[in-house]
Amino acid sequence: MFKNVVCVQCPIGCKIKVELTDDGHIKSITGNKCPRGLEYAKDEIQDPKRVVPTSIRVLNGELPLASVKTDKPIPKRFIPELMKIVKEVKVEAPVKAGDVVLKDLFGTGANLVVTRTVRRLENGSQKFQENRAGGGNG
Ligand code: SF4
Repeated sequence: MFKNVVCVQCPIGCKIKVELTDDGHIKSITGNKCPRGLEYAKDEIQDPKRVVPTSIRVLNGELPLASVKTDKPIPKRFIPELMKIVKEVKVEAPVKAGDVVLKDLFGTGANLVVTRTVRRLENGSQKFQENRAGGGNG
């Protein structure tokens, strides 16, 4: 059996063909122009990994959510568990791009980091009034 994998490690995007034995073991890998593609194809077959973008709740921030992502790919099998955990995460504003929210996810060495700064809203009701006044005249 053959499986096709497109390597995303560089813009060339090699089309890699992985031949598998009947019991699912890798027999051969062809089409990669460099060793990175070999590793990528092996991972895609045995334990595919992805960078996970999502968002977390922010308390007392100018925005209710901050975007976050894993700072390296994690095995796809951990993604459902990560999403459950992320749903429960609340951080107090301010948060800065680059802040680490969760460390060493599932022992992978990947961290969940903030990708968008959210400043603290010092006086929510006052800002709301200002925004309404400004927004109505636009
Ligand atoms: S196999 Fe090498 S050259 Fe081909 S897409 Fe992957 S990283 Fe790029």
